[in-house]
Amino acid sequence: MYNPQAPSLRTLRKKAVPDISKKYTNKQMKVGFIGLGIMGSRMATNLQRAGHELVVYNRTQAKADELVAQGAVRAASAEEVARQCRLVFTMLATPDAVEETAVGPDGFLRALPGNSLWVDCSTVNPSFTKKMAHQARKMGLRFLDAPVSGSLIPAEKGELIFLVGGPEEDLAQVRELLEVMGKNVVHVGENGQGASMKMVINMLLAQAMAAFTESLRLGTALGISEETLCQTLLNTPAAAPFLKLKQDKLLKRDFSPEFPLEWMHKDLHLASISAYEQNVALPSLQVTKELYAQAKQQGFGEEDLSAIYRLYLPDDGENQ
Ligand code: NAP
Repeated sequence: MYNPQAPSLRTLRKKAVPDISKKYTNKQMKVGFIGLGIMGSRMATNLQRAGHELVVYNRTQAKADELVAQGAVRAASAEEVARQCRLVFTMLATPDAVEETAVGPDGFLRALPGNSLWVDCSTVNPSFTKKMAHQARKMGLRFLDAPVSGSLIPAEKGELIFLVGGPEEDLAQVRELLEVMGKNVVHVGENGQGASMKMVINMLLAQAMAAFTESLRLGTALGISEETLCQTLLNTPAAAPFLKLKQDKLLKRDFSPEFPLEWMHKDLHLASISAYEQNVALPSLQVTKELYAQAKQQGFGEEDLSAIYRLYLPDDGENQ
């Protein structure tokens, strides 16, 4: 459907931005968006390009500038977002950040009109997200956990995978918006199940990344070039498909963040909490978590998770 507020295709092409024109939805909505980091900024941009009216807030205000320049309303606080919207997305770093922003002294939940919907896309642990769902319900609000699989590039292209926990009817209200920001929406189950699926996926990603870089280390020690190792391993079923996306970063030593290593360490910590809560023993999760802890301790936390490779690069520590 034609949307007069949406930029023309020519403008989109001129700016060399991803073409999400096929994703314009029929209904344009007023959407609150809190948390405009690597992921949130790109998700909100796609909603804006699809013609939705945005009210945005980020703790570091400057990160909202681009969206505001394109027409989003800047809110002075998360609470102010809630006063203007009945639908709010959050994309924040950690459970602590979500808790402080939602139910802390200046939390936005109490400012939301009754029956409003809060969609939390942050990666948090299932027991935490269930607590948030409970708090929201107690205040007469609705809640979905909707963390995402996919990093900077999929976020930019509107190709994330949403893993949703919560009532079907609440998902129905935002499905079109999720489809603007993503290529797939998986309704995993009730509140907490989206977060649960995300824990499982990231545990697997972290282990695959660490195992791959460790394999590179053995291969190079045995005299095989990194290029040959990558070309061979990445074309066997032994390597996880997402590692192909990290090949250039590893070979060029470009560890600029797509998925910051410190957030992967956080996710492993959260998975470890979930394992404790469920009374399941996951020994390789614990070892992998400590590898990421070691990388963070060596100062690689703000780099991409592929910087785990730096633990294995012979002289890397000396170049810090
Ligand atoms: P990021 O760039 O570091 O952004 C984090 C956001 O959280 C920023 O808006 C930051 O505000 C805000 N924040 C942190 N602590 C806060 C606090 N105490 N109070 C208020 N706001 C706070 O991280 P990101 O990569 O966008 O990740 C966001 C979430 O998505 C994380 O849960 C991450 O695990 C998850 N995720 C990331 C990826 C990825 O590839 N990057 C993929 C899937 C899921 P400031 O700007 O003021 O610091």
